[in-house]
Amino acid sequence: MTPAAYALLNYPALRHNLAKVREPAPSAKIMAVIKANAYGHGLIEVAKTLVGVDAFAVARVDEGIRLRQAGTAGRIVVLEGFTCGEELQLLLEHGLEAVVHGVWQLDLLEETQAAGKLPVWLKLDTGMGRLGFTRSELPMAYRRLSRCHNVADPVHLMTHLANADDLQDPKTGQQLALFHAATVDYSTPKTLANSAGILAWPDSIADWVRPGIMLYGVSPFPGQCGRQLGLQPVMSLHSRLIAVKTIAAGDSVGYGGQWTARRSTRLGVVAIGYGDGYPRQAKTGTPVLVNDVRTALIGRVSMDMITVDLENCPEARPGDPVTLWGGGLPVEEIACCADTIPYTLLCGITQRVQIVAR
Ligand SMILES: *Cc1c(COP(=O)(O)O)cnc(C)c1O
Repeated sequence: MTPAAYALLNYPALRHNLAKVREPAPSAKIMAVIKANAYGHGLIEVAKTLVGVDAFAVARVDEGIRLRQAGTAGRIVVLEGFTCGEELQLLLEHGLEAVVHGVWQLDLLEETQAAGKLPVWLKLDTGMGRLGFTRSELPMAYRRLSRCHNVADPVHLMTHLANADDLQDPKTGQQLALFHAATVDYSTPKTLANSAGILAWPDSIADWVRPGIMLYGVSPFPGQCGRQLGLQPVMSLHSRLIAVKTIAAGDSVGYGGQWTARRSTRLGVVAIGYGDGYPRQAKTGTPVLVNDVRTALIGRVSMDMITVDLENCPEARPGDPVTLWGGGLPVEEIACCADTIPYTLLCGITQRVQIVAR
């Protein structure tokens, strides 16, 4: 028996989506991005399923260590690099690779007494405005890394695209041009593309690509869902009806009495809420599937429950299955109804939600 709220994970779909990465980037090496518990899909399971990728990427050192401890033998890149000297030692100890993005990291690398050599990914900030060296700092950073006795050869070069999900935005072209101009003289492995880059910006495909969201079958583009891109969604979120009732005209539902019935209405209570990661911002009208019939959320999302309109599900009764996203209900659509992006919904699934592998 599954608990009321569970996430069903179609792990084989990861391999289908990986094949979709290879279509536009047949000769690129693939760094599969599995940070934040593989976007909520389970770090270790996802790593085990994505055999054959050239590296994994995580955000933090402890995520990389967890992968090593679970037996992942291949390359693991830590996208935020080390945040202190102790983490630098842990990277070396566990054979992890680091993105190097700031002068203070260069200083630390040069000062450290290390037994091994750290593989590094030198990050250039071409417009994201978060991590990375400026164009004018790049030659200095590259020189220091190349000469540092603690750094492995070759020094890889990378940047991150800020607006690649917007096909009209001129910024991506500017970022690509800046990266090219700054790095053209370095014949060393390079990487720029996230999922949106892979799917929409061919010039961003270099020696390596770094797919994240598309591996999970979800679109990086607003207004388009994964299936429209030939991807297979990996996660679906489910629960059950736990009450069915008819309320009278004028009765209100949920905290704040935000929704009031205009006429006598049949409604259901579902065991899912923001304590499971269902978004509290989801508005009345957000689609929900009851027995695979499309109906709608009404009233405010509580910690453990939501209420749904059952007017078009006359047969529905307690115990019946409910789908919150996945299946016939794209997570992209739910994200839109909750004024967020699918990334936050996927990685926001909480501990209470049982993961069920299909
Ligand atoms: C998260 C991340 C990615 C993957 O982005 P998606 O939009 O999920 O494909 C790639 N590169 C870096 C540096 C990231 O932080």
